[in-house]
Amino acid sequence: MTDGTESESRKLLRRLRNAMAGDSAGQARLDEITHLIADSMGTEVCSVYLFRDAETLELCATEGLKPEAVHQTRMRMGEGLVGRVAKVGTVVNEADAPSAKGFRYMPETGEEIYSSFLGVPIQRLGEKLGVLVVQSKQAREFSADEVYALEVVAMVLAEMTELGAFVGEGAALSARHQQSVLIRGTSGQEGAAEGHVWLHEPRVVVTNPIAEDPHNELTRLHEAVDTLRISVDQMLAGASGGDADQVQVLEAYRMFANSKGWMRRMEEDISRGLSAEAAVEKEQSAARARLGQVNDAYLRDRLHDLDDLSNRLLRILTGQGTDTGAELPADPILIARNIGPAELLDYGRSLKGIVLEEGSVGSHAAIVARALAIPLVIHAGRITTEALNGNHIMVDGDQGIVHLRPDDTVVAAFRDKIAMQAKAQERYASIRDKSATTKCGKTISLLMNAGLMADLPSLQGSGAEGVGLFRTELQFLVRNKMPKRSELSAIYSRVLDAAQGKRVVFRTLDIGSDKVLPYMKPNDEPNPALGWRAIRVGLDKPGVLRMQLQALLRASKGRPMSIMFPFVAQYEEFKAAKWEMEKALERERILGHAVPEHLEVGAMLETPSLAFAPDRFYEEVDFLSIGGNDLKQFFFAADRENERVRRRYDTLNVSFLTFLEGIVKRCAASNTALSFCGEDAGRPVEAVCLAAMGIRTLSMRPASIGPVKNILRGVDLDGLRKVIETANMNGDQSVRPAVMDYLRKQT
Ligand code: PEP
Ligand code: MG
Repeated sequence: MTDGTESESRKLLRRLRNAMAGDSAGQARLDEITHLIADSMGTEVCSVYLFRDAETLELCATEGLKPEAVHQTRMRMGEGLVGRVAKVGTVVNEADAPSAKGFRYMPETGEEIYSSFLGVPIQRLGEKLGVLVVQSKQAREFSADEVYALEVVAMVLAEMTELGAFVGEGAALSARHQQSVLIRGTSGQEGAAEGHVWLHEPRVVVTNPIAEDPHNELTRLHEAVDTLRISVDQMLAGASGGDADQVQVLEAYRMFANSKGWMRRMEEDISRGLSAEAAVEKEQSAARARLGQVNDAYLRDRLHDLDDLSNRLLRILTGQGTDTGAELPADPILIARNIGPAELLDYGRSLKGIVLEEGSVGSHAAIVARALAIPLVIHAGRITTEALNGNHIMVDGDQGIVHLRPDDTVVAAFRDKIAMQAKAQERYASIRDKSATTKCGKTISLLMNAGLMADLPSLQGSGAEGVGLFRTELQFLVRNKMPKRSELSAIYSRVLDAAQGKRVVFRTLDIGSDKVLPYMKPNDEPNPALGWRAIRVGLDKPGVLRMQLQALLRASKGRPMSIMFPFVAQYEEFKAAKWEMEKALERERILGHAVPEHLEVGAMLETPSLAFAPDRFYEEVDFLSIGGNDLKQFFFAADRENERVRRRYDTLNVSFLTFLEGIVKRCAASNTALSFCGEDAGRPVEAVCLAAMGIRTLSMRPASIGPVKNILRGVDLDGLRKVIETANMNGDQSVRPAVMDYLRKQT
């Protein structure tokens, strides 16, 4: 970059700033800017295209193209060269544009006489706002310096767009963050919620993208980076020796904070006329754009690290902390790109709903949201850039839909839905203390699933008869280091206290697969769900299992205890785990501690193999609980975490029901208690079918107990069983249509 172009670029930005400072309105300002850019860059044409909706760009101002095309010419994302810039988020530089691949001629613009084309995206932190284009008659490729200069200008335009500098008539110039937006994501936890936005990480606002004095900006940047480096070093010193994963992230932070390339690019941006914060944001935007194109998980993580670091640097430069002085609304809906389970627990039940831009169904945050019964939508694209603190928002956790700043008709329809749910809740409350006895006189025992202390109040409120599955891994997941035996023992004891004599089935640690402890060295396994997880880890590295068994036994303080082992695939594994239990009991006795007055040792049936285990296994195990989530994924060979296949096979598929029936028969023959604790137990239609197949104990989320009890009380299981058998004989793949038909007629 020559001194000459440097000062040209700065000169252009200065002229831009003057244009911004003037009191012209949005459209006039944009017109002036396109004129200025064309003049400074020595091109005949400069045009600004902005998005009028997520898919359509609109020509909003031009110098050089026909003025009547303004607000008339539109193109879809990916259409023509302009659409390509927007879609890919990178520069298009063509000397002979009309013969370039994808060129689309727009006759109303009169652009046929221009040969060269340079388009750069107008984007802010990965959010696509529009495209800035210069064109000229002379067939030439624009130089790297010119491209860079236009990118710097686009960056300033993006900041100005965000600040509302171009608000005018029409959709493309409408004020940002004011229209109602519908975002489609994925359901993470059912339920509907209305409230106001609370941004987990408030956005930094850059109000001064153009700087007067580059030397001053360089000094500010260097000072801020020094402060950043010191804080990263301090964090590292605090974390070393502890959580290995956190240390790894901080090491990556340190690497970026000391990266010469990152620094050099920001210095170059400043020398072009940007302020220090605009320079940081320009590089952050570029990194976010790359993030969208990278599939490699490791690289994505590193780009995320760089993004976090840039946020920290921006906060240092602008003085805008995470505490913006905003107050948590009374009905907060939490918005975040992602959030850890411990942070989510800090908010606790104060949240009405959660919307995440990323996340996954099996993520720890989703597990916690489910435990707290807070509606959750994940994969809600653009939510963190669209939402502002305090915005009105409605979350439909059933459909995975978010209505941001909804209009009146949406509000009315949504409130109707909430009212209907509230009415249903009233009905469920009225049968809370009644048993789940069917019309044909069979009583089904309904238990709840839990994993956190926060779940326990639901034991009384939901009408559950006990806890059929206590997932102990949550206590491990929400910490950043391995909990001590005494800590665990105290927690388990409090769980038993809260249960007030009701049965609690503790499941020993189920880690691996989708549940990775933050402080455990991740294992690079090709198929983690089929890998080294749950009881396999417990038996191969028994230290943690022994510690946990001891904590459980000690927590009993002589009270009855039920413990089950997860993911047992063969009898031998159960025998080995039970032997560990016997040793633990023996140890406790020797130490003179009270042992449970009655101890039940069970297993989860989550692999098809266990359904065919020897009779001896069935005779020896005190109880079995079918983990339908895992069992189904292995039965159908369909990954429960993979959106493409996870809903492909119906639980009411005749093959699966016949398979379950076989398990019921084996348990009946050996007099082994059987329950079902996968998610399907909490789905009313699935639940009645499980009951019709002979399963008499169902364990589910507390919020499902009401709806499941309600349907069970109105159903005749013998009649339903006949419907299932007939559908099977008729060759139906799933009995669902026949069952639905039957249930409709019953009510
Ligand atoms: C299951 O697999 O059905 C189960 C209850 O265990 P988890 O969902 O914790 O894997
Ligand atoms: Mg499981």
